[in-house]
Amino acid sequence: MTDDFAPLSPRRDSRPIHIGDVQVGGNAPIVVQTMTNTDTADAAATIEQVARLADAGAEVVRLAVPDRQAAQALPDIVGRTSVPLVADIHFDHRLALVAIQAGIEGLRLNPGNIRDAAKVREVVQAAKERRIPIRVGVNEGSLPPLPALAEGELPVSKSKRMVEAALWEIGILEEMGFEDIKISLKAFDVPTMCAAYRDMASRVSYPLHLGVTEAGTPGAGSVRSAIGIGTLLAEGIGDTIRVSLAADPADELPVCWDILKSLNLRQRGATIIACPTCGRIEVDLIPLVNQVETHFQQQGHPITVAVMGCVVNGPGEARDADIGLAAGKGKGAIFRKGEIVRIVPEDQFLTALLDEGERIIEERFGLDALSETAVIGTAIKLTPTPAPSPQRPGRASQFQK
Ligand code: SF4
Repeated sequence: MTDDFAPLSPRRDSRPIHIGDVQVGGNAPIVVQTMTNTDTADAAATIEQVARLADAGAEVVRLAVPDRQAAQALPDIVGRTSVPLVADIHFDHRLALVAIQAGIEGLRLNPGNIRDAAKVREVVQAAKERRIPIRVGVNEGSLPPLPALAEGELPVSKSKRMVEAALWEIGILEEMGFEDIKISLKAFDVPTMCAAYRDMASRVSYPLHLGVTEAGTPGAGSVRSAIGIGTLLAEGIGDTIRVSLAADPADELPVCWDILKSLNLRQRGATIIACPTCGRIEVDLIPLVNQVETHFQQQGHPITVAVMGCVVNGPGEARDADIGLAAGKGKGAIFRKGEIVRIVPEDQFLTALLDEGERIIEERFGLDALSETAVIGTAIKLTPTPAPSPQRPGRASQFQK
């Protein structure tokens, strides 16, 4: 990566942990994760959804474990997915114990609703024996109750309450010599979540899982998440991210990847540059852009493709693109790094651009690359933690540096 495409800030040093074979923190690339919305008790549906989410770019997937039926399905799920799984536990610590027994690769505990230190210790002891990391997952909507205020005393800010809730649980974990900790401090309000994460980042070296909680519908929620997560990542804070949308969880993953791409932190698949169109345009550009994006995203290789609306300004405006089309009336120019390489008639715009794309992929990644999916900054793989699955296919076959 050249200086021109360097990240904005150096990454904060964090202590590495391992969720199955995926490293989070340390020098690992920022890990992309999401959460299933199937009934976890339905093992087949959950396995199928995890596979779909992994295909869409999830490197770790979290499952809700709200009750005993869900926990009892975990032995049928764990080990049958291509990415490691994290059990999301609220209220009942016994569900965490069942998940650990089932071989789950990570746990999320909410310090806002498991407040009995003895129960937390019981979980920590079991996690320690299996070397399973725990996310101390604070959510602004489920904070411990506020203590009564003395007369004249001002209430503590929400971000401080979030940090204090996390530190309470971290204290219990540390007392037991447990350091495989990851922390999240999610709020809907972006300034609140940024303040909480910044405060925590200055206090501890554990890796941070970033997210804006209940961010909303795909349009507004993606913007809110990109601003919250992106602000912190731009400051070098954050080791793994999840975008939470009121949508199919697969829709969250392109947003995660676009956040990472926008900050030059990681790349997955092609980057598409498209002009916004203006009064100079003489072709129907937008359907063409969508076709180009679908094709190159499926190809999965990290190249930059431009689709521009006029020959006069297109090649110059998209000079950094690996390849591009500047579409004029009746004919257009195919260019590479701003230099026109050929002129093609309008009915060949799409095929000519796809041909040029195949050429550049072959030149850069080799012939075999045309049928592979590629990720730059692949999550670091390590020796699996105990109780790995014999059924899990290797992730190396899906991703490459
Ligand atoms: Fe307008 Fe041409 Fe620029 Fe597109 S490339 S925005 S059509 S000037």
